[in-house]
Amino acid sequence: MSSLLALEFASTVRADRSGLVDALEDAGGLTAWVRAHAADLGVDPAVFTATEEMREEVVALRQAIRALLARAVAPGPPSGADAARLPAFEPSLDLVNATAAAVPVAPRLEWPPGDAPRARTVPARAAGDSARLRAALASAAIDLLAGPHRERIRVCPAPRCVLYFVKEHPRQEWCSVACGNRARAARHYRQHKHA
Ligand SMILES: [Zn+2]
Repeated sequence: MSSLLALEFASTVRADRSGLVDALEDAGGLTAWVRAHAADLGVDPAVFTATEEMREEVVALRQAIRALLARAVAPGPPSGADAARLPAFEPSLDLVNATAAAVPVAPRLEWPPGDAPRARTVPARAAGDSARLRAALASAAIDLLAGPHRERIRVCPAPRCVLYFVKEHPRQEWCSVACGNRARAARHYRQHKHA
């Protein structure tokens, strides 16, 4: 599982020209996002459909993870998307840990005829869709925050961008080429306006 899954999850809150956009603002949005990440989340995309109750649970976990990301980038400022309404750090840490612990996992050996054996990590006992996918997301967040990427987590400083990202090389300032272009254009505009 990619530890960057946690960043993709946190980035379901983003900004576009019209303002903040939440990909999980309704159950249909959550259904689409989970189907797109089904392999990482251990759900069957053909049958998965989110409910409103599940959406509320998933969004609560996302906000807890965003509170931990805010701590990870401190003393720098957190993402402007929700800086003023993040849950407190300690309850967020507890929620992430409890969510991961709610679905214990075990390795399973799969050995298809004519193929090499491989191990997959699966729930150790039956678990509902919401608990299973939230446990996968909480585990991904733990991997991210306890792993080598944590020191390179940043908030993109480009105008209007609110994304957390992992710096891939030392001179990288922005989350994407598009954000870099927009930030340079804004800087150029400011310099020439005041010249
Ligand atoms: Zn950006």
